[in-house]
Amino acid sequence: MVQESNISLQLFASGYCEAHANIVNPLEGKGKTKFYAVWALLQIPNLGYILFDTGYSNQFNKATQSFPERLYRWATPVTLTDNNTAKALLEAKGIHANQIKYVIISHFHADHIAGLNDFTNAQFICHRDAYEEVKELSGWKAVSKGILHKLLPENFNSKVLVLDEIADHIVVNQYGITEYQLFGRSEFRLIYLPGHAKGMLGFMYENEKQAIFYATDASWSYETYARGILPRKVVKLFFDSWNDFVETQAKIKAFELANEHYKILFTHCKKTLKYINNEI
Ligand SMILES: [Zn+2]
Repeated sequence: MVQESNISLQLFASGYCEAHANIVNPLEGKGKTKFYAVWALLQIPNLGYILFDTGYSNQFNKATQSFPERLYRWATPVTLTDNNTAKALLEAKGIHANQIKYVIISHFHADHIAGLNDFTNAQFICHRDAYEEVKELSGWKAVSKGILHKLLPENFNSKVLVLDEIADHIVVNQYGITEYQLFGRSEFRLIYLPGHAKGMLGFMYENEKQAIFYATDASWSYETYARGILPRKVVKLFFDSWNDFVETQAKIKAFELANEHYKILFTHCKKTLKYINNEI
């Protein structure tokens, strides 16, 4: 029985970068493909507004002006307009950036966290492994793992909450997937998705109308995931663990087979844009 839910959830996209399609699908990909930077707004009664990631913001261009960060911009050129940053899209809905209480960080790649500086009243929630890596890596090494420290607010360390310290419950489900309940609610759970990046998180959200498993960058495309086509192996250079990446996809598949009412959405997938535009 699905419990009554009054949490609301909406997905948005703030900017995109372009990459070669054959990185996503080495068998059939041709030309360039767009990776939209999707993020989510949650509203939890008695708690307030929470973001899950932020997409791109203009901070990305500032943070990648000099080397080694400039390489990041070369690898993934970004298109963004002033009126589709997370801050601007929220304002268009009547929500001011300083009303955001928490930003949950799926992982520290620029396309997920470039807007952090816009949310000055927020505390940041992330997985311990992701945070440890951010503290540990610097310079070229950090950039090679997709981490741009210049995107982090100055007082970041004093505003971070490590997920396993604030979770109400941590459960490994029957598919071997770790779920974190927090905020005293069970219809929204954070999900541990290792492989693409250290300590990467996604979420599950379920109410009487819909059920979503938002699996961030566990794949870049629902189609390749569903057909078992893995990205070009060159991505191993910046992935945290290829084995974990493959294993995480297998676990998501096992979950999906047994829970067909769930929509599986990935951050950069065309299917997710259709979902945002109410086409699926
Ligand atoms: Zn990404």
